[in-house]
Amino acid sequence: MNISGLTVVATAFVAGAGMWTFAEYVLHRFAMHHLHGRGIMSREHLEHHVTSQWHFDVNHILSWTGMLLVGFGGFAPLVAWASSWTLGIALATGWAVGYFHYEIRHALSHLRNPQSRYTRWVARHHFHHHFGHPMSNHGVSVPWWDQVFGTYERPTRVRVPRRLVLPWMLDETGELKAEHADDYVLVGSPDATERSRQLDRARAFASTAPED
Ligand SMILES: [Zn+2]
Ligand SMILES: [Zn+2]
Repeated sequence: MNISGLTVVATAFVAGAGMWTFAEYVLHRFAMHHLHGRGIMSREHLEHHVTSQWHFDVNHILSWTGMLLVGFGGFAPLVAWASSWTLGIALATGWAVGYFHYEIRHALSHLRNPQSRYTRWVARHHFHHHFGHPMSNHGVSVPWWDQVFGTYERPTRVRVPRRLVLPWMLDETGELKAEHADDYVLVGSPDATERSRQLDRARAFASTAPED
């Protein structure tokens, strides 16, 4: 393959990854939050908002299969029909890489202390979505589509209810690590009550932020 052929393949790959970031935004905003729990995708996502913890479960395998099918079973043959299989596979691979990058970034934002400027940004951007305003910041891995569609909010210090705190935010005494003082502030009691659990569920399914 010559240089111009390689450039076209690379462009198809980047286009596939870019298409994923758009799908990430649209699915999260409309198929998850706007549906308020109707359908499995919305219900599972809003359950994730109830506790703000990330756990692996079989629904992840369903999503992975679905997204791979859309890429390699949908987009690839379409591009092959219009152009070539090489471009179709390149586009579907970009789509899949974009998707798994998002999955990993999302999971790690919940599970691990951010280590870089980018992962610190992902965490603060995403936890503003969880704890500040669930109808903003629908993009997880990139801010572009929120900026384009007017749902981008630059977080100041994110208020994190102690009962929903992410374990990586805490030091060994159970207080916020000093390194996170500019990004987060802990509020409320660490103890969840039956009433707070019910309220967290109701507010998650209404796509409103949890109370302090
Ligand atoms: Zn999340
Ligand atoms: Zn969400």
